[in-house]
Amino acid sequence: MRNILVAGNWKMNKTPAETNEFLQILAEFTKSNQHPEVEVMVAPTYLSLSGARDAIADANILLSAQDVSKNINGAFTGEVSAFMLASLPVDMCIIGHSERRAYHQETDETINRKLQMLLASGIKPIICIGETLEQREAEETMEVVITQLEGCLNDVKLATGDEIVIAYEPVWAIGTGITATPEQAQEVHSLIRRLLSKLYSNEIAQKVLILYGGSMKPTNMDELLSCGDIDGGLIGGASLEIESFCKMIEIAIEKKRGV
Ligand code: PEP
Repeated sequence: MRNILVAGNWKMNKTPAETNEFLQILAEFTKSNQHPEVEVMVAPTYLSLSGARDAIADANILLSAQDVSKNINGAFTGEVSAFMLASLPVDMCIIGHSERRAYHQETDETINRKLQMLLASGIKPIICIGETLEQREAEETMEVVITQLEGCLNDVKLATGDEIVIAYEPVWAIGTGITATPEQAQEVHSLIRRLLSKLYSNEIAQKVLILYGGSMKPTNMDELLSCGDIDGGLIGGASLEIESFCKMIEIAIEKKRGV
């Protein structure tokens, strides 16, 4: 059985002090609310990663960056390398978020280079893919998702499937309050797993965590997690408030306990 990953993407929110305050409460909460098959992750800004590492030192919480450079080192003003992230250390790194694709013109080729950098540095990538509203309405969702995933995974070798996480995030559901129905999400998640099976093997495909992202919140999480191929959530807005994030961790734990 795969774990559930409850992952918060904070985007450009929270100062280092606010991050610290949030994480101290979260660390306390996760001490008394945990399950061996439920993982919790937060992705603050680069600026807060070092302080966050200290704030969660004794807690079972994974730390993620929101992006990484596709380059090793050198004259790339404003960028942060995978090696630097690994030195903190961070555990995971989001790549290919639709906001990076839209506002920074990131292509599958760029994301593939970032993925290779992260794997070489021992950081687990969360690879984001997903269609726009226009693409869904033109019935291109499956084609778009296949192209993105094949492009991102080009020449990437996997030994177990545990090296990567994939997040299916329909762009029309991100930050809009509109969530994909469980049926819509499951249809794409199952396609992703079938594609992984074709690209690698069924054994590897069964190990890869596939998260759903797009206005996931306490009120819709349970039904999304009930789908066979949804292994957790990449959560934006609802991860910023400690109450709703903790509630979502509780929902994941209850799911694993079969409550
Ligand atoms: C995201 O940014 O990855 C995301 C899913 O945001 P939200 O939950 O706010 O839709």
